Order: sequence, then structure tokens, then C-alpha cells
Amino acid sequence: MKVSKKVILEFPKHTWDQPVIYTLHSKHHLTFNILKAKITPKSEGLMILELSGGREDFERGIDFLKELGVRVRYLAADITRDEEKCTHCGACTAICPTQALYINRDSMEVIFDKEKCIGCELCIPACPFRAIELKF
Ligand code: SF4
Ligand code: SF4
Repeated sequence: MKVSKKVILEFPKHTWDQPVIYTLHSKHHLTFNILKAKITPKSEGLMILELSGGREDFERGIDFLKELGVRVRYLAADITRDEEKCTHCGACTAICPTQALYINRDSMEVIFDKEKCIGCELCIPACPFRAIELKF
């Protein structure tokens, strides 16, 4: 059975120069779609990606990451926006890694495209009006 999940990977410092994602693909046969990456030489790094593959390969790949000391978090939360509270200030659009929140240049309204949302929660603290909520 095929598994496809969106995950946040937090890399410890000692992994910055290791071919971690390449190993997930070559050794564990997982395919990936990188949604956001912040890797700085000799520092901790962060990556948001969609990982897909057979269930056993997926589990082995996640075990490989954990053994390396990579922190793995799954994105499964449901993000909603309270239209009454949103003032379309645009603050959330700068932080959204997938452009699920973006400004419509014609109307200057902030659009929330739920299909693109990966539930990373970065927009929740970014909203000064507490318009974005997390539902389980
Ligand atoms: S949770 Fe917020 S910041 Fe993250 S993808 Fe969804 S809308 Fe964008
Ligand atoms: S930061 Fe909050 S109020 Fe501003 S556009 Fe985004 S959701 Fe709306």
C-alpha cells in the first residue's frame, strides 16, 4: 500500500553535509516534493516536504531519519480562517511556504486556498487578529 505524507524535518547540526534526502530516495525508494527548505552550512536545518512510497519503505525511511537524529513531525492539522476576523492585512502571506495564503492583486484581498495548505501552522502566530485557527 502506498503512503504519502507531508512532514516537517528538523535536521541537527551534524547532518548538514549528509545526503539525507538522496538516501531516502536511493535506499528507501521514497519520492519527495520539497515544499520549503532552510539549510545553512554547519547549522541546524528545516525542511517541509511531501514523502511518498510503499508503507514498509516509508517506515524504514522514517526510522533512518530518526536514527540520524532528525526530528520528524507530520502535518495533519486542518487550518481554517475566520472570515469575520480577517482584515486582509497580508501579514500571513509572507510566511506561508506554499502560497496557500496570497494577495489577489486586483481586489487586494488575502485569499486562502485550502487545497495548497499543508497545515504547517506558521501562519497562526503570524496573524495579529487571531483569524487563523487549527482544528482537529
Ligand atoms: S498552515 Fe498557514 S502557513 Fe502553513 S501552509 Fe497552511 S496557510 Fe500556509
Ligand atoms: S494575517 Fe490574519 S488578518 Fe492578516 S490577512 Fe492573514 S489571516 Fe487575515
